[in-house]
Amino acid sequence: TSAQIGVSGLAVMGRNLARNFARNGYTVALHNRTASRTHDLIKEFGHEGDFVPTESAEDFVAALERPRRLMIMVKAGAPTDAVIQEFARLLEPGDMIIDGGNAHFADTRRRERELRERGIHFVGTGVSGGEEGALHGPSIMPGGSTESYASLGPMLEKISAKAKDGAPCVTHVGPDGAGHFVKMVHNGIEYADMQLIGEAYQLLRDVAGRTPAQIAEIFRTWNTGRLDSYLIEITAEVLSHVDAATGAPFVDVVLDQAEQKGTGRWTVQIALDLGVPVSGIAEAVFARSLSGHAALREASRGLAGPRPAPMGEAEAAAFADRVEQALYASKIVSYTQGFHEIAAGSEEYGWHIDLGKVASIWRGGCIIRAAFLDRIRAAYDARADLPSLLSDKTFAQEIADAQDDWREVLVAATRQGVPAPGFAAALAYYDALRAERLPAALTQGQRDFFGAHTYRRTDRAGSYHTLWGGDRSEVEA
Ligand code: NDP
Repeated sequence: TSAQIGVSGLAVMGRNLARNFARNGYTVALHNRTASRTHDLIKEFGHEGDFVPTESAEDFVAALERPRRLMIMVKAGAPTDAVIQEFARLLEPGDMIIDGGNAHFADTRRRERELRERGIHFVGTGVSGGEEGALHGPSIMPGGSTESYASLGPMLEKISAKAKDGAPCVTHVGPDGAGHFVKMVHNGIEYADMQLIGEAYQLLRDVAGRTPAQIAEIFRTWNTGRLDSYLIEITAEVLSHVDAATGAPFVDVVLDQAEQKGTGRWTVQIALDLGVPVSGIAEAVFARSLSGHAALREASRGLAGPRPAPMGEAEAAAFADRVEQALYASKIVSYTQGFHEIAAGSEEYGWHIDLGKVASIWRGGCIIRAAFLDRIRAAYDARADLPSLLSDKTFAQEIADAQDDWREVLVAATRQGVPAPGFAAALAYYDALRAERLPAALTQGQRDFFGAHTYRRTDRAGSYHTLWGGDRSEVEA
């Protein structure tokens, strides 16, 4: 029998995606550079469905029905190129290679172009949800041609997560690199969400004097409201976990140096190229990098901080509610920034990405899945050309209601010397956007002074230069 789909790369992600396809009734050809992984899968999970194990690229390709659908789940970067080359020479026009790894969208654009010249569809696909998601239903973000989605879409819809309303968490995001671009921004938003949650935790601990177990309870309560999300849920789990070896809260025995694999950094690098202010995501990336500078932190331990001012019980309880407001408002801002980046990428590369659809497919399966995403989808459904999520009436009103508490939380953080760069960057973004005037006017004056870079005026069109070194009269540039 010929297989409807093949999966090559059977580490944690590929193995579980292959099982997911098989559990949904598809015949799945299997391949891995090291054949033992293929054998292990058959031995452990062969009973779950129809698998066709193969040991060579030739046998793998031969096992697939035409047009072939061949998914690769290998290490991103050079290994992905090597695997593509190995298979592409065996394929025919109309066949599809689906790359579900965490590729950089620029690589995906290049690979798509090269393979398109040979008549092969290259479908760069974001997959989120980790190991469990891959097995039980991930959020899937495929790019590539419309033709390839027509062939592949129904299968992806079957294996994907389903949102609460039953909608599959997959859509054809757009051509070439669109899927991997959206996956990248998903991860950037994930970084921001995690940073904001981390700041909320640290403030509850250092300003309100709560224990990790108490904070876990606070997060559990938050998880029943508008912050209902996977990340808040697992935060409560991590905070209530006790280290078996020491009996101490688990969070106190873990080395406080956060690592990263690169998608958050990419989100910020690309945002800089596109000129999109993603300050909240950037602070999250920088916070991880700062945490890792052990020697620098050690050398800075003795620097002066404010005198401690412990809170009374009533004040501490009220503070927790304020932190919820600050967290929610900052979250709105980081999603606003992330969606701005997607809109800018879509514009730059001509992808025509439907932002409401993106929010919709993030509602289930992925790491940032949250009740909140339903609201974002509703905002874009109400108005597809929304200039910013902050221009949505509901979000604007929620921030209006939260802002006093948000500001108070930052006052307390500042006074007590607890860093809250995510909350602060989000508030600064909000205040800058709503400002009547920005000091950018002064910046333009300085640039014109030292570099004759010219400026525009508020009262008439054209570019102008002031003769700063002369009589300071103004000339049209
Ligand atoms: P890894 O990223 O650890 O990759 C291991 C797989 O890549 C193995 O099958 C390995 O084969 C294969 N491989 C590595 N180098 C080569 C090469 N030069 N030629 C052929 N095969 C090679 O596995 P994961 O399952 O964690 O991730 C797979 C992809 O999915 C990655 O791109 C990752 O970024 C992405 N991803 C991972 C998520 C996760 O939660 N882990 C979530 C979403 C995406 P061998 O067995 O022979 O060594």
